[in-house]
Amino acid sequence: MKKIDKPKKPLMYYYMIILIVLVLFNTIVSPMIIRNKIKQVDYGTFMTMTEELKIDKVEIDNHEVLFTDKDGTVYCTGKMDDPDLVNRLHDANVSFTQEINQENNTFLDMFIWFVLPLLIFSLLGQYASKKLMDKMGGGKNAMQFGIGKSNAKIYVKSSEGIKFADVAGEDEAKENLQEIVDYLHNPAKYKEIGASMPKGILLVGPPGTGKTMLAKAVAGESNVPFFSMSGSEFVEMFVGMGASKVRDLFKQAKEKAPCIVFIDEIDAIGKKREGNIGGNDEREQTLNQLLTEMDGFENNNGVIILAATNRPESLDPALTRPGRFDRRVPVELPDLIGREEILKVHAKKIKTADNIDYGKIARMASGASGAELANIINEAALRAVRDNRSQVTQSDLEESIEVVIAGYQKKNAILTDKEKMIVSYHEIGHALVAAMQTNSAPVQKITIVPRTSGALGYTMQVEEEGNHYLMSKEEIENKIATLTAGRVAEEIACHTITTGASNDIEQATKLARAMITRYGMHDDFGMIAMENVTNQYLGQDTTLACSSDTQTKIDEAVISLIKQQYDKAKKIIVENRDKLDELAKFLYEKETITGEQFMEILLRQ
Ligand code: ADP
Ligand code: ZN
Repeated sequence: MKKIDKPKKPLMYYYMIILIVLVLFNTIVSPMIIRNKIKQVDYGTFMTMTEELKIDKVEIDNHEVLFTDKDGTVYCTGKMDDPDLVNRLHDANVSFTQEINQENNTFLDMFIWFVLPLLIFSLLGQYASKKLMDKMGGGKNAMQFGIGKSNAKIYVKSSEGIKFADVAGEDEAKENLQEIVDYLHNPAKYKEIGASMPKGILLVGPPGTGKTMLAKAVAGESNVPFFSMSGSEFVEMFVGMGASKVRDLFKQAKEKAPCIVFIDEIDAIGKKREGNIGGNDEREQTLNQLLTEMDGFENNNGVIILAATNRPESLDPALTRPGRFDRRVPVELPDLIGREEILKVHAKKIKTADNIDYGKIARMASGASGAELANIINEAALRAVRDNRSQVTQSDLEESIEVVIAGYQKKNAILTDKEKMIVSYHEIGHALVAAMQTNSAPVQKITIVPRTSGALGYTMQVEEEGNHYLMSKEEIENKIATLTAGRVAEEIACHTITTGASNDIEQATKLARAMITRYGMHDDFGMIAMENVTNQYLGQDTTLACSSDTQTKIDEAVISLIKQQYDKAKKIIVENRDKLDELAKFLYEKETITGEQFMEILLRQ
């Protein structure tokens, strides 16, 4: 009842709109209607009719002559320079007037061409800004800002109360972020030694794995304000606004330091800047501003930037270089244990029966992300309500997996048993060959949880210290052998070959080709550059710089090089067939195998 003063404004708008419509009608529409009834004739007809005394009344204005005949029909003709007209009309006994509506016209013209557009634009502007404000004032505890300011939401003092305990699984990510929390609690400890925290931390992983949650949890654990903004918000709406939004966001953040700034979907602004003309200037300016802001920080001012992306490979190298987002925290799809934990965390929010086997649900929901698991729990609760039950049962959960997964099946690969077996062998094949070749890096972890990137399994290798920049010929050869080993294992153990090796084949070919054309590692060709890298820091694109004859020879050499390594991998796998089976079985059952577990089985007698 107290909102009585609110309709005032809209009412005035309505009046304005009605006024405009009326004016438009009077000046444009109604003359047009009248005009339709007027007969257009030539000046000769007008003269003849005057002579024949058929005319009753004449009105002459600036441009035309309007006249009415004795029957009341209105005619119109263009005005001519006819000084004799007045006399003739007088002789014909016609009543005639000169319409002096010049001033009238100017006023109307002015209104239509000048005032009206102004009015319309100001009304539109008011409307748009009102919409904008509505959009910004989203959350209850979010502050509001005007146009041109960033609409980062501030959650002061972790009002959402998310803690690490709410994020199930993701232990590695949490461990990594714990250091940030510690720093925010006690920056003096770090300052004393002279250590500085990384300014930016990139949370990398598929959608729905809890990246936003983790960022909020860091703020929650450290009890500091949390600014969150999505990368696409920077570049939406108005041109030229992105950069100023970034500036504003950082200004606010510095005022509230220590604090966490979270930029979701950073790839929306941080995509690689390629040399193409007519690129997205707006995005580049925004990105440049972000880089400038990050460089402008002193080391210990307590603003920590977390950013999330599921396309890390598309990020501009300028963004990921040291001093900017130099720390990368992988947030992977949860494995079996992780899934079970996530299910349990979300099940706490609903009423469940006592005898629920979460392990079984987790096993059934292979490949599901945290968000999907949360969805499964919710679907189950909805199902229970639909059936008028007061508790969620095991069968509710099992049913809802199907609902959720069938819905997501296109997006997320859920492996059949046979596929899972093949993928297990494939990945163990890679790891086994890598481990058996002394110079190859040992594996750190293998998972057969499908990735959104399309890979069904994944082997994380540990790079040895100091080996990041230089690679010996032998190492490259071993790497090629390791790449072919996935296919070899499929062939030997499952007697089938699958499309799963396509990425391996591509990489192996690239390496083999580079050995010959760029690294001078082939005896037949020597130290001749047959390919030039055109875009060293960005795409690593290459162009061929040799005759077609040579190209043919290169192709042959690439084929034989890969064949050689393939045979080597085959030999290693055949010799270690029992270990291959043992390891693949372990991976098949557990879905994850760590480096230690792997080595333990491998070295076991
Ligand atoms: P992302 O930012 O990675 O896309 P979010 O952090 O927005 O994912 O997660 C979406 C939702 O999924 C969360 O609100 C939460 O309910 C659920 N979720 C995802 N991962 C987890 C997890 N590890 N533990 C608990 N809940 C999770
Ligand atoms: Zn592979």
